[in-house]
Amino acid sequence: MALDLLKRKPKDIVFGDDLKVEWKDGAESRYPLFGLRDACPCAGCVDEVTGRKVLDPKSIPPDIHILRAEYVGHYALRLFWSDGHNSGIYAFAYLRELADNPGLLAEGHPVMFQ
Ligand SMILES: [Zn+2]
Repeated sequence: MALDLLKRKPKDIVFGDDLKVEWKDGAESRYPLFGLRDACPCAGCVDEVTGRKVLDPKSIPPDIHILRAEYVGHYALRLFWSDGHNSGIYAFAYLRELADNPGLLAEGHPVMFQ
């Protein structure tokens, strides 16, 4: 899929026991919530200079869930987590990268369907 498509809103996003994203190319990705919280790209979780992760996964409650979410422009999703963290802006291109590289998620693997 062309990158410019990845920068736009997916067809649908479903919040449940995991996060489900239906992409405009027909693919579907599922993200375990703990892994998604752990993969938060914000400056508080990842060192902006070195790119190294500073978030300790042990600080994440095992029952972490999403309280609410809002679109950031057309390119990203901001997630409000039950642990009070809400500075993570998940660009759709980043979410798709996570889905295409399951090893990037610490726990569980997003499942891709075609
Ligand atoms: Zn963060």
